Amino acid sequence: VEDMRERAQRMESLGTLAGGIAHDLNNVLTPLLLATQVLLADDRSDRDREMLTTIEKSARRGATMIRQMLTFARGVDVERAPIDLADLLAEAHRFARDTLPDSVDILVRHEARHGALGSTTHLMQVVQNLILNARDAMPDGGTLTLATHSGSPHEPPEHDPLPHAVLEKDHVALSIIDSGVGMTPEIVERLWEPFFTTKPLGEGTGLGLPTSAAIIESHDGRISVRTEPGRGTRFDIVLPAAELAPASAERDDDAVPGHGE
Ligand code: ADP
Repeated sequence: VEDMRERAQRMESLGTLAGGIAHDLNNVLTPLLLATQVLLADDRSDRDREMLTTIEKSARRGATMIRQMLTFARGVDVERAPIDLADLLAEAHRFARDTLPDSVDILVRHEARHGALGSTTHLMQVVQNLILNARDAMPDGGTLTLATHSGSPHEPPEHDPLPHAVLEKDHVALSIIDSGVGMTPEIVERLWEPFFTTKPLGEGTGLGLPTSAAIIESHDGRISVRTEPGRGTRFDIVLPAAELAPASAERDDDAVPGHGE
């Protein structure tokens, strides 16, 4: 059994390695992307345009992967402010609608009575990672649930696929739940390791979850997973709660929590 410190050291050297690779790859991709854009600006045959677009898309995907690697390697220094989780959910919903095929239903449930203290940009990066993973886990369709709740004891709704996380009073939770393939204990055990992926070469970086964990840690939050093979997966992100500016915070406490669509 690996010692915690050994594990941390191994993660750190992997981070340094990732940072080095990311830097070099950036120097490879930037001119490729620029040259493609210059070529696309001129009149082109349909065939040339199609091929140049393919090159451009791949280069952009590479650039996204590099950004993830750099976030992971350098760590994150987030500037936090109170975030209205209703806004964050709405943005996540838009992203999910644009990303998921029509065979996936999307439910949105906003039950949190507080905001969260965090960086919207960084949290959206995490949410997008989780939604992309959920998409890959539901090749034959299913249901994606985006939910928030506050730290007060209440009965989880009937249709909750898996039970709620236990939550302290001064915290809020954001959950991304899919009805996809789920994970075996062997996969769960390696989930947070950098470069661990079960996806085909060129499709997964294995950096989505370690990067997400680094971002959530820098928020003094935590991220956890519950999953069952063949049934689905639930990621719960717990963040410190924040009071919102009066305009959006003044909600009647007895009001019926907002339901999805
Ligand atoms: P990547 O998505 O690039 O593979 P991640 O770190 O985001 O990297 O995920 C690592 C692995 O965890 C994935 O390859 C997949 O096997 C598993 N995984 C992550 N999210 C889910 C999910 N929602 N359902 C099933 N498996 C998942």
